[in-house]
Amino acid sequence: MMFMANNSELKTSLVKAINEALPEAILVVNDQGIIVSHNRHFVEIWKIPDDHLSGFESGTAIGIKNTQILAKIVESVKDPESFLARVRELYENPHLNDHCEIALSDGRTLERHSTTLRSNDGQYLGRVWFFRDITERKQAEENLLLTRFVSDHGPDSIFWIDEQARIVYVNEAACRERGYTKSELLAMSIPEIDANCPVDVWIAHWQELKQKGSLTFEVRHRRKDGSIFPVEISANFVDFGGKEFNIAFSRDITMRKQAEDEIQLLAFYDPLTRLPNRRLLMDRLQHAVASSMRSCRNGALLFIDLDHFKTLNDTLGHDTGDLLLQDVAQRLQACVRQGDTVARLGGDEFVVILENLSENDLEAATQTENIGEKILAALNEPYQLNQHESRSSPSIGATLFGGRQQAIDELLKQADIAMYQAKKSGRNTLRFFDPKMQEAINAHAALEGELRKALEKRQFHLHYQIQVDSLRRPVGAEALIRWLHPERGLVSPAQFIPLAEETGVILPMGLWVLETACAQIKSWESIESTRNLVLSVNVSAKQFHQADFVSQVQAAVRNHAINPDLLKLELTESMLLENIEDTIGIMNALKGIGVGFSLDDFGTGYSSLQYLKRLPLSQLKIDQSFIRDLAVDSSDRAIVSTIIAMAQSLGLDVIAEGVETAEQWRFLQESGCNHYQGFLFGKPAPIEQLESILGCEASPPHF
Ligand code: C2E
Ligand code: MG
Ligand code: MG
Repeated sequence: MMFMANNSELKTSLVKAINEALPEAILVVNDQGIIVSHNRHFVEIWKIPDDHLSGFESGTAIGIKNTQILAKIVESVKDPESFLARVRELYENPHLNDHCEIALSDGRTLERHSTTLRSNDGQYLGRVWFFRDITERKQAEENLLLTRFVSDHGPDSIFWIDEQARIVYVNEAACRERGYTKSELLAMSIPEIDANCPVDVWIAHWQELKQKGSLTFEVRHRRKDGSIFPVEISANFVDFGGKEFNIAFSRDITMRKQAEDEIQLLAFYDPLTRLPNRRLLMDRLQHAVASSMRSCRNGALLFIDLDHFKTLNDTLGHDTGDLLLQDVAQRLQACVRQGDTVARLGGDEFVVILENLSENDLEAATQTENIGEKILAALNEPYQLNQHESRSSPSIGATLFGGRQQAIDELLKQADIAMYQAKKSGRNTLRFFDPKMQEAINAHAALEGELRKALEKRQFHLHYQIQVDSLRRPVGAEALIRWLHPERGLVSPAQFIPLAEETGVILPMGLWVLETACAQIKSWESIESTRNLVLSVNVSAKQFHQADFVSQVQAAVRNHAINPDLLKLELTESMLLENIEDTIGIMNALKGIGVGFSLDDFGTGYSSLQYLKRLPLSQLKIDQSFIRDLAVDSSDRAIVSTIIAMAQSLGLDVIAEGVETAEQWRFLQESGCNHYQGFLFGKPAPIEQLESILGCEASPPHF
């Protein structure tokens, strides 16, 4: 009994265990329509509420017809009528087998399979129903159908690739784009069409894709004819019931790349010459400096400016100018190595970066010089610009960099400075940047700033140098400006006058000299020994050619109420020839009010007598360079006597400057010179010193 009971229990447990282990939901109904068994999946799949199941136990025969459960099932299906009709049909025809799909109202799909249960002698016992949730599979199948449709009709290439990188499916577009037939591509693997994807890269890619689900990236695919084209890949990891694929959509992005390249070109290249522009140059220079720091090798920067390009542009037109620039760009590129950079800064300015020169500075400089010479020769070759044969030449400035961090702006400035040196040395040449040159330029810049402030800071002073006649009697003085700098001390006019002319500071400064000199003349008026002294004032070219120069002088004379005969302006030859008619006009206007003129540094210019005769001069001042060597240089003696004779013949007064020795004085006297100035008679000195020599008591000028 025990055994029997155990055996039956065992059987029931076994059936129950098998029922529960099956992946399907199971329902067993007997020939009376009574539910005799079900498993847990059945309850889950049909979402049968707990209270419907009171008294039921899955896997056991319970022997009741459960209308509640049937009602719940019918309520869940999407099409209850046809569902019930089919159930009825199956009950009425027990021999029928059944296999169908049931759509539920909650969107799921169940697969149903049912079969009759018969006893060994063939008697009908009932029916067993199997249900399986196939929603996911249906979804996948639908997706697949969709993908297949899109894949053959869409613009993108589609590849199904397996874990071993084998192509297992491709669409028409994929074949067309690569020039392969479908069967050819299906026999290939990804590394054969993606040049940058060897097997190890594929393995890593597969892992990443599996982890992330999808990836988008750009690669280059190879066509059957070997040509390469850029594609954008959108890869998707798909698992079809345990079969894993990479479904990759690939799109030809040649056009997009071209557009990107075009944008790149516009942003970083000069449209005329297609050379890198300033932006790219700065970037390349930055890299070049950094790599020279790492490698300890020198690099060089060459700044190239075409000589007289503006003239060519103005005479032959801009189109021809453009052709020249394009030719120059090509020639420059031909002069350098592959890794070197030729850039156009704009206008007629080009820059070349040479990299990987010798570690040794001297050798690197020689290498740079060689390339510079090559460039000079290349750019000096004639140019055929449309129908014109034209010539051009460059001025090149070079600077070396290497081994240490250097600001790229600084390097460009250095090469630019060196280029200006090349221009100054007569153009069509190469000059290296010299740090001493930089120091001089820095000092020059500092001086310029200070010079601008010197006037308001009252740092200018006038010194006076006496002028005498043949009997050594004082006849006048020359006013010479001095700059008393708080730190630098006395700065020589030779240093700051050219700078003042360059910067325009000469204008207010010259006016100040004029005013101070007039005030001095006024203060001399009251003293017997100085009342007849003529004061000479140096005038610079810029000052003289100012539109209101005449009125400035007139105003000074008037405001200080001086005798204009006592004011003499010293002019130099070169400034007078600039615009001879203008010059004569200005001089005549001033001569009209009584102001005299002396031609300073005479003999050093190239003025023709023809012009001299037309100028209303009162005096020629023989340049001190002829006086210096009078004792030893016979040609200087000849020049000096000729000047004196000439002055006499033109009815001009003549004065020798820089007279230092009695011997010089004697020779000049013998030659008929009548006025003298120089250290022999007195050095330029502050007014007090001059006045003490003259033995006068004078009140200081009112300036
Ligand atoms: P400059 O007008 O030819 O002046 C004569 C220069 O010769 C002065 O140099 C003077 O100091 C120097 N000198 C005079 N006697 C002797 C001598 O016996 N031996 C030697 N070795 N030198 C002598 P300084 O004062 O240095 O002036 C240089 C130049 O600066 C002047 O040449 C003049 O061109 C310019 N300069 C001076 N003051 C002014 C000014 O107020 N305005 C303008 N525009 N230029 C000025
Ligand atoms: Mg002078
Ligand atoms: Mg002079």
